[in-house]
Amino acid sequence: MKNILVTGGLGFIGSALIRKLMKNKNFKILNIDALTYANSSNYQKELLKNKKNYKFLKLNINNFNRLYKEIKIFKPDTVFHLAAESHVDNSIKNSSKFIKTNIYGTYNLLESIRLIWRDKKTINNNKCKFIHVSTDEVYGYLKLNEKKFTELNKYLPSSPYSASKASSDLLAYSWFKTFDLPIIITNCSNNFGPYQHKEKLIPKVILNCFLNKKIPVYGKGNQIRDWIFVDDHVDILIRLAKKGLNGENYNIGNNCEITNMDLIKKIITTLNKIYEKNDLAKINLNHLILHVPDRLAHDFRYGIDNKKISKLINFKPNKNFNTNLFKTVEWYFDRFYKFK
Ligand code: NAD
Repeated sequence: MKNILVTGGLGFIGSALIRKLMKNKNFKILNIDALTYANSSNYQKELLKNKKNYKFLKLNINNFNRLYKEIKIFKPDTVFHLAAESHVDNSIKNSSKFIKTNIYGTYNLLESIRLIWRDKKTINNNKCKFIHVSTDEVYGYLKLNEKKFTELNKYLPSSPYSASKASSDLLAYSWFKTFDLPIIITNCSNNFGPYQHKEKLIPKVILNCFLNKKIPVYGKGNQIRDWIFVDDHVDILIRLAKKGLNGENYNIGNNCEITNMDLIKKIITTLNKIYEKNDLAKINLNHLILHVPDRLAHDFRYGIDNKKISKLINFKPNKNFNTNLFKTVEWYFDRFYKFK
């Protein structure tokens, strides 16, 4: 791993990955990101500036010609593909960008890489790896008493978002089967941490508390998600880039299932601790919760079986959920005025 291409490196997870990769001075990194509304450059402007071992390129992965040209010049040996439209609610309102970026964009990247790696005859020399970053949502949902998702579960996506990701996973797999491209696919559960866009659940709850605005809760809020801290996810991606076997899927979760309502309560308790430290009046949970009609085809539960990565990279779930949630809430608290 030396020349590393990251797509979507100004997004929530991509930027955490780049911040981690930059610590290794032997790496050369190219970050390709279209800077859509979801990018986080307002809070990390330094990622827009080129450095000795880091280059940022504003580029849409739907532009095949330019994408191919730039990647050919950079000559990556490792690709982390994270550029995507990522918000389920947006995919329900208007799915066209999801189809374009998540499916066509992934095709453009796979095809560019295939042409470049084939030219260089490096495909089979074990030096290259394409990490296609995907979601556990491709598996659909679980009932309360059902076993967690393993890599053998069927793909049964419920939303246009998860269907577009499932499609891109299948494209990636077929580029492995047909063209022998060294690809692995990762299916991760819900991430949390700093720099996440305010449309997502955790930042939205925190922000609405700051603004004393109602917190919309889908249905009863009894949907269950398995939360992983974003830095843990990117550590696993880097380890899988080194150890993952071509053509394999790897589930990534943190054995940390919690209902949305319990999570909201935890966030408010955490925020109240921070408010107390700062002599601010506490938030009353009951005043802020607003139950709204459930999202269409809302998946009830996601749960991830981690056995495969536990064996391969000795993964152990991070038990410090509360500490990491505190760090996250504190990070948003510190930046509150920038969010207004
Ligand atoms: P994000 O929405 O925060 O960031 C996406 C980034 O991709 C943005 O910087 C955006 O500008 C860029 N982008 C979007 N369309 C583009 C295009 N056409 N060309 C180039 N760049 C484009 O997303 P995220 O939460 O960081 O997720 C990253 C990846 O991880 C996605 O593929 C997502 O499906 C997957 N994933 C996310 C989670 C999660 O909980 N956030 C969980 C599992 C998997």
